[in-house]
Amino acid sequence: MSWEDKIRKVEPYVAGEQPVGKVIKLNTNEFPYPPSPMVATRLYDMAQDEIDSSDNMLRKYPNMDADKLVRAISQVYGVDYDKIFVGVGSDDVLAMAFLTYFNSDKPILFPDITYSFYDVWAEVFRIPYEQKKLNDDFFINKEDYIGRDCGGIVIPNPNAPTGVLEEVSFFEDIIKRNPDCIVIIDEAYIDFGGESALPLIDKYDNVVIVQTFSKSRALAGLRIGMAFANPGLIRYLKDVKFSINSYTMNYPAIEIGTVSVLDTEYFDKTVKMLIKTREETKIELKKLGFKFGDSKANFIFATHESVPAGEIFRKLKEKNIYVRHWDKPRISNHLRISIGTDEEMHTLIEALKEIVN
Ligand SMILES: *Cc1c(COP(=O)(O)O)cnc(C)c1O
Repeated sequence: MSWEDKIRKVEPYVAGEQPVGKVIKLNTNEFPYPPSPMVATRLYDMAQDEIDSSDNMLRKYPNMDADKLVRAISQVYGVDYDKIFVGVGSDDVLAMAFLTYFNSDKPILFPDITYSFYDVWAEVFRIPYEQKKLNDDFFINKEDYIGRDCGGIVIPNPNAPTGVLEEVSFFEDIIKRNPDCIVIIDEAYIDFGGESALPLIDKYDNVVIVQTFSKSRALAGLRIGMAFANPGLIRYLKDVKFSINSYTMNYPAIEIGTVSVLDTEYFDKTVKMLIKTREETKIELKKLGFKFGDSKANFIFATHESVPAGEIFRKLKEKNIYVRHWDKPRISNHLRISIGTDEEMHTLIEALKEIVN
C-alpha cells in the first residue's frame, strides 16, 4: 500500500466567489450593512489595549468557554449558559456536531437540495448518509424523516438555497417521532422572518439548534456560530471540541461578538431594512418574469420563465454583478440572489431588465 492509498481524500466544499474590486456582490448571502457600530468602538479600544486594564489580552490564551460571549448570548436569547456552545462560524459548530452526534453506522438524513457542506462533512467523517428528495416546489416531505431508524437528521430552516421556511411544529413532529435520533436544525437564516425552534431544546433531549453571526449580524469575516441544546448534548459537543483544539474562539472574536449580540436595537433595525428590501425585490423580479418561492431568508432563489439561469448569471457577471448559480441537477435553471442594499438591488433590477427583455 503506497502513502497515496493511506491519505484521507475529500472533495472540498466550494464557496461562492470572493471577487476583489468594485462589484455588486450578491452571491454569498453576506449582510449588506456594516456590523453594529459598537464593533468599531471595541476594535479601536482593543488596539489601544483599554479593554482589560490588567494586561494585553492577545498575549494570553483566551478563555476556553468564550465565557463573556456565551454570557451575552445567554442574556439576549434567554437561554441558560450551559445550553450554549460557540464555535468558529456555524460551519465549525456543524462540523463538530456531525462528529459528535452522528457516530453510528446508520445513515443520517438531509434533503437532496440543501446546504452543500452536509455531504462534505459526512464524507470527511465517513458518516453514511441519505439525501431525501424535495418535491418539485422544493418543499421537504416530512414523512421522509419520520419513523426511520436513522443515524441522525440535519435540515436548515429556512432551507438553503431554496429559502423555504417550515413551521416549528413541522420540526417538532420530526423530533418527537425520532426519539432515538439527534435532529440538528440549521437556523443560519432564521432571523429574516422565520420563527426559531429554540424553545424545543427545553422540551426534547434530541434537538440541536445552530445559528450564526455571519448573516444577520454582518460578521461573516469574524467567524462566530453557536449551538443551543440541553446541557448533556452541549457537554458532549464541548468534549469533542476540546479534544481537537480548546482555544478555537480567539480573543477579538469573543470581544466583538459580545458587543454585537448585545446591540439588539441595531440588529432589529438592520434586519428590518433587509426584509423590506427583500419584499420590494420580490415585486420587481416578478414583474420581470421571475418565479420563486416565498423566501424568508436574505436571498431569493429564482428561475426565469424564458431566459436560462446560466445565461443570466454570465451576463450579470459581465456587468460586475455576482449572484450564485449551480450546475447541479434540478437547480441548474435557478439563481440564488442575496439581498443587498436598496441601491444594489436597484442596479441589479436595471441590469436584469436589459438581460431578460
Ligand atoms: C452560511 C451558512 C452556514 C455557515 O455560516 P458560518 O459563516 O460558518 O457561520 C451554515 N449553514 C447554512 C445553511 C448557511 O447558509
